[in-house]
Amino acid sequence: MAFEGLADRLQSTIKKMTGKGKVSEQDVKEMAREVRLALLEADVNFKVVKDFVKKIKERAVGVEVMESLTPGQQVIKIVKEELTVLMGGEQSKIAVSERPPTVIMMVGLQGAGKTTTSGKLGNLLRKKHNRKPLLVACDVYRPAAVDQLETVGNQLGIPVFSQGTEKNPVDIANEAIEHAKQEHLDYVIIDTAGRLHVDENLMGELTQIKANINPDEIFLVVDAMTGQDAVNVAETFDQTLDITGVVLTKLDGDTRGGAALSIRAVTDKPIKFAGMGEKLDELEAFHPERMASRILG
Ligand code: GDP
Repeated sequence: MAFEGLADRLQSTIKKMTGKGKVSEQDVKEMAREVRLALLEADVNFKVVKDFVKKIKERAVGVEVMESLTPGQQVIKIVKEELTVLMGGEQSKIAVSERPPTVIMMVGLQGAGKTTTSGKLGNLLRKKHNRKPLLVACDVYRPAAVDQLETVGNQLGIPVFSQGTEKNPVDIANEAIEHAKQEHLDYVIIDTAGRLHVDENLMGELTQIKANINPDEIFLVVDAMTGQDAVNVAETFDQTLDITGVVLTKLDGDTRGGAALSIRAVTDKPIKFAGMGEKLDELEAFHPERMASRILG
């Protein structure tokens, strides 16, 4: 379950506050210390933790009984609100181009879940938003990647535009967009190549695709289970490509939550979706408030 470890720790810290009719400075200090440790243990970025704890301390000192909440309950409310803000506040919507198709470029390292997520996203757009997507195979370095996207498309009954591995990805992407226009498809989801590590060739190719197709969204797919590595990858991709959002995959297996809690603050880019399992319908819009509730119960 996502955030399991963090949820346990924060909830036990917070339970101590619930009954308090009065919150002393000492109480706030202790609570802040434990929140700090819990977040660090969850692999949240060090600076993000520091800023977060400072904020809740400032807000929690001197709370008085307000409306129907005891001071203890108010402190919990503050932590929950700040966790929500940390993960982006409002839910971030997906772009809709005024002139269809809306073009989404999927980028990320190999194994992060890019191909699976491309299929999942097409499925979600079709089922929830009643849109007609097209999947595009632009990872021309690995024949297996093209096959994999075709398999995913077949499973879902979503068309896949592929031209093998001989052509260059910019041409494939452009032709796919033309094809989508002719077929009156609404979304073009481009699955780009990934590498095991960030490298110049990969970034050069992605920059070139971006410059040529001018996508409406560039979603970085990162594996939540890699914690701070995912945050570093996000920073690097964002610096080069100016991404528009993040998809966090494998949140189902991430008991810590460090990436989910750091990426927004570090990159200032929203988390748009979360992968919650291997199945092709296990992609959810990312709701910061619901995530915060998951953590605090
Ligand atoms: P790519 O190399 O980035 O295209 O990655 P793939 O799409 O091939 O995914 C790599 C592995 O991660 C596959 O085994 C997927 O089933 C798995 N995967 C992708 N997303 C999720 C997710 O949200 N949860 C879980 N548990 N597994 C996922």
